[in-house]
Amino acid sequence: MKKILFLMVWLSPLILLANTSVALQVLGSGGPESGDKRASTAYIIWIDGKSRILIDFGGGASLRFEEVNANIADLDVILLTHLHVDHTADLPALLKSSFFTHASGKLHIFGPDKNIFMPSTDDFIERLFKNAKGAWQYLGDHLDGQARLQLKTHNIRKNHKASLIYKNGSMTIQAISVHHGPIPAIAYRVNIGNKSITFSGDMSGQYHTLETLAKNTNILVAHNAVPQNASGVATQLHMKPSTIGQIAQKATPKKLILSHRMLRTLGKEKETKREIRKYYKGPIQFANDKSYYKVR
Ligand SMILES: [Zn+2]
Repeated sequence: MKKILFLMVWLSPLILLANTSVALQVLGSGGPESGDKRASTAYIIWIDGKSRILIDFGGGASLRFEEVNANIADLDVILLTHLHVDHTADLPALLKSSFFTHASGKLHIFGPDKNIFMPSTDDFIERLFKNAKGAWQYLGDHLDGQARLQLKTHNIRKNHKASLIYKNGSMTIQAISVHHGPIPAIAYRVNIGNKSITFSGDMSGQYHTLETLAKNTNILVAHNAVPQNASGVATQLHMKPSTIGQIAQKATPKKLILSHRMLRTLGKEKETKREIRKYYKGPIQFANDKSYYKVR
């Protein structure tokens, strides 16, 4: 009896971890176009029914956030893959709406460091909200310690090896640099116990870093912004389906979700799937706004 009790005590944290419910919900499955009838890029990770992590928050995401009954007070972390408009535009709306909730404490925002084309994430948030400097400086009390909810920003330096950027209980978040033309960009892997979701963000694949970050992940969210016959500048910014396939072949995710769908890829799902299938045999799904995927 003693032995059984000892085993139960020893196993209980493991059982609890295994039972943690984790789900990915797509808030915005589109890119920067207005004609795609989709919100721009944004995702939620639900942990035990709570909206704990946001990944990007482009235009339209704020409305989707409401529609899926997400709660700002439950958010721990916002991960910005890069600072383009279609990944960040609704952040001010989210912050303002927090005033009317019980949201309090620190809300961590991670994103890339600066280069000659883009500000650092820290500077980006200050240019939006900081007292006497920001475009919406009237929200500056979210940075200076006065408001209940405080934004805490973190710049992620360019790094071709995955780094651990956040840890909270059984949750860890890793980041790695990806190539998105001249724009600093980050891919993230969120691990909760033995479950994980990896986000490519916008990237061309030229750094060959996502393959290692996404190794054996439960869900890889890859951005399907260009078709196979794309050429020129678009291929410096985004992955062709064959590149997505080659990455998935090496990373072997349990499931591949295609998002950041654009007018140039919408309607070409059969062709896209065919190209990816040359390399990756696992399940492939095309995301829509509010698509919900339980991580098993
Ligand atoms: Zn984008």
